[in-house]
Amino acid sequence: DLSSYDLIVVGSGFFGLTVAERVADGLGKRVLVLERRNHIGGNAYSEAEPETGIEIHRYGAHLFHTSNERVWAYVNRFTSFTNYQHRVFARVGEQVYAFPMNLALINQFFGKAHTPDEARSLIAEQSAEVETGQAANLEEKAISLVGRPLYEAFVKGYTAKQWQTDPTELDASIITRLPVRYTYDNRYFNDTHEGLPTDGYTAWLERMAAHENIDVVLDTDYFAVREQLPADVPVVYTGPLDRYFDHAEGELGWRTLDFEMSVEPTGDFQGTSVINYNDAEVPFTRILEFRHMHPERDYPKDRTVIVREYSRFAESGDEPYYPINTPDDRAKLDRYRELARKETANRGVLFGGRLGTYKYLDMHMAIGSALTMYENRLVPHFTEGRPLSGTEAED
Ligand code: FAD
Ligand code: UDP
Repeated sequence: DLSSYDLIVVGSGFFGLTVAERVADGLGKRVLVLERRNHIGGNAYSEAEPETGIEIHRYGAHLFHTSNERVWAYVNRFTSFTNYQHRVFARVGEQVYAFPMNLALINQFFGKAHTPDEARSLIAEQSAEVETGQAANLEEKAISLVGRPLYEAFVKGYTAKQWQTDPTELDASIITRLPVRYTYDNRYFNDTHEGLPTDGYTAWLERMAAHENIDVVLDTDYFAVREQLPADVPVVYTGPLDRYFDHAEGELGWRTLDFEMSVEPTGDFQGTSVINYNDAEVPFTRILEFRHMHPERDYPKDRTVIVREYSRFAESGDEPYYPINTPDDRAKLDRYRELARKETANRGVLFGGRLGTYKYLDMHMAIGSALTMYENRLVPHFTEGRPLSGTEAED
């Protein structure tokens, strides 16, 4: 009986499941989750590769990290985490460097042992052509941070493959995700908390969806069943924002990835989880080797699973992964946000998550943003009858 639901959630990724779990458990309301794919979890979904039992992340390597204490406390209700610390290596020519930019990389690249102060003045000299505060796009930002030689070796080719978009068209924020350090610390993330879910991502996601007030229906596209749903039940939509409005303002640009998986006849293919291939001539961006994400597990010693990752522009029918966010995209996004505001006010549809907001959100950000939507919009709505649109101040 569809009229017995208090809330419909479209999409079972971390955003949708966090909203569903909070409304089900925190407010005792009944939630229907609709999922287009044949499994829950969105892009964080993982599964055992059948031949080796090695846990693979079907939609690309997912590393959990956060400095948000509210998110950390919340996620620990559903899973414990291993003490895995992510490190990435970068291959340029015949050399492999400890990434991100750090003293080991700088010394190896320039063939000289610099002290931290010497490295700082070297990079300051090389980056003097652009002032960081003035940098208007990815290319200027990167050069202002690391200088031209390191930009050309480690950023230019990789970014060209990842985005196939002129780096002067890309947002500077993409590159500020990558730290530059004048120490030998090569941890990829700076966050307080980091680790991988002990029993895997899917076990974690299933525990979030297990609440008795939540029903999940797989293989169901919201747009195919929308007419059958009661019109007065609020909806939290986490699918693509432009699709919701039938692309009325044009298509938002996305990058998609192709994953080429293989089982290799060795116990260790590359000695670490991720090696980036920074040269423009190598067609893939990186190779993932999943066994290294769980060194504590008892995996086969004679076989390993690797995935080569290729990036390209998403056509219709492809999975949208990374918002490209060119100035043209941002102009369309402003118009879609206006439509979304009206849809919230007129029809009780809230938009959230990576696809629903066209934002490059990490898992902890998607979960944090869902907790905020719950507290600022859904709790006041369900307990005091306040409108879902809330007030501007709550955005
Ligand atoms: P999603 O996980 O995309 O879930 C949306 C769900 O909605 C999907 O299951 C989709 O099938 C469903 N849906 C869409 N349209 C409809 C419809 N019409 N009807 C029904 N269902 C629909 N984050 C990290 O923190 N660390 C990482 O290392 C990391 N690595 C990443 C690597 C890659 C390659 C990618 C693409 C992302 C990575 N992320 C990482 C980000 C992470 O995947 C997101 O933060 C997270 O998936 C966001 O959750 P979400 O619920 O917003 O979206
Ligand atoms: N990047 C780069 N060289 C690298 C890794 C990253 O130039 O070896 C740039 C690239 O533009 C990329 C961005 O930094 O899109 C963010 O990288 P990150 O590893 O955070 O991307 P993700 O893992 O989310 O794909």
